[in-house]
Amino acid sequence: MELIDAHAHMSDESFGADFETVLQAAAEAGVVGIVTVSENLGDAHRILELAEKFPLLKPCAGLYPDTLDLEAAEAMVAFIRAHEDRLVGIGEVGLDHWVVKEASGREIQERMLVKFVALSEELDLPLNVHSRSAGRHTVRFLRQHGARKVLLHAFDGKASAALEGIEAGYYFSIPPSVVRSRQKQKLLDRLPLDRLLLETDSPVLGPDPAARNEPKNVLVSCQAIAAANGVSIEEVARVTTENARRLFPKAFRAFNARSG
Ligand SMILES: [Zn+2]
Repeated sequence: MELIDAHAHMSDESFGADFETVLQAAAEAGVVGIVTVSENLGDAHRILELAEKFPLLKPCAGLYPDTLDLEAAEAMVAFIRAHEDRLVGIGEVGLDHWVVKEASGREIQERMLVKFVALSEELDLPLNVHSRSAGRHTVRFLRQHGARKVLLHAFDGKASAALEGIEAGYYFSIPPSVVRSRQKQKLLDRLPLDRLLLETDSPVLGPDPAARNEPKNVLVSCQAIAAANGVSIEEVARVTTENARRLFPKAFRAFNARSG
């Protein structure tokens, strides 16, 4: 069984001392790729270095939407252009109406996201998107601005909003916190399996909110999706891994060539 974690923060300081043990445990659980997002420029540099050393990591570069700074967004755009050959996606980027409540701040957030959407189109790189308390708004915003290759991670909106994303061809990744989230279980009741990916958002969104989350826990998401769809975990692994390979083709080129 092969599993892909489509969204994790492996440069987080909580993965210091036992970093290699965590990757080993993931590999033993069947994880064949960890799409690793960044939150700022320093983070993006670190993730590229880590990915060089540990090929299980598939690096994305982006700016977490709590940063309200158009110059920082421009600097990140330049970084992504400069390292395009090694990046598998743009993220984490998005809209957060929980952290940013003022209209002026939200406007800056949107102007930043527009830059990343345009870059996604220009470089043909998928967007790894955060949205909080802004689910429907984020889906509509992305559609309005012509985003085509999109992963909405840990989507916290209504299923009806998610379905607007499904209509646009977007994918959704489900974190292990689904086991304790009625909202995420409702998403699973409505979203088609052929648009789902597994993620962990490590080190957060684990099955136990008090414990550090890690990539091997994609198995927990896999089990929850299997139960909701009445299919085997092997089937969920197969479909979600295929979806991840379709959305992040640069991360899994060797495999895609192998399987034709
Ligand atoms: Zn994240």
